[in-house]
Amino acid sequence: MSTSARTLAIAALLTLGVAVAPGVGADRIGPNAQEIDQIEAQYEGTYAGEVTEATKQARTYLRQRVRRAADPARLVAVFDVDETAITSYECIKRGRFRWARRNACVVLDPHPPIPQVLELYRFVRRTGVTIVFISDRPDYVRRQTLQQLRAAGYRGRYQLFLRPTRDRRESVRPFKSGVRKRLERGGQVITLNIGDQYADCELGACGTFFKLPNGMYSNR
Ligand SMILES: [Mg+2]
Repeated sequence: MSTSARTLAIAALLTLGVAVAPGVGADRIGPNAQEIDQIEAQYEGTYAGEVTEATKQARTYLRQRVRRAADPARLVAVFDVDETAITSYECIKRGRFRWARRNACVVLDPHPPIPQVLELYRFVRRTGVTIVFISDRPDYVRRQTLQQLRAAGYRGRYQLFLRPTRDRRESVRPFKSGVRKRLERGGQVITLNIGDQYADCELGACGTFFKLPNGMYSNR
């Protein structure tokens, strides 16, 4: 991505911020020193174990679901992108977890995978279940998002749904549930759904949700 394109993308992303960390006022630009300590303690403490547990449960669930499926390809596994497939933790941390920083980090490299989720992704691929990514990233960062996913190890066939630029609704829920409902109307069945936000699984057609921790922010 060229410097000017990156600058433009960052500028546009900064206008989208709707994130509020748990327990932190939306009028502030970021967490205070004590809250930062709590975020870092979570990521250096319980985070990895919680992700391992959630992905292990997801794998067990999917294995059972596929066993009684006539056509696994009709089943859909939904993956969220940020803080699910890939993480911006180190980038956001360098910016002291400020809200604006979180949006800028979407287009700043690198984006390592969350390893347990990548492992789950590879397992899902082997089952023949259809994989879709649904993200509240705006659709003008499609190319960068595909590059980041590929660089992180997410290879093979999948669909990527990004939020249309014209969608100015405050909440991401109508967009994400709308995609899932469209897939179901097309004859597919949402099964596994993994994400770091409860908003990844609301307003219907959720499937079975596996929630990953995110101590940095929560989305409406
Ligand atoms: Mg996310």
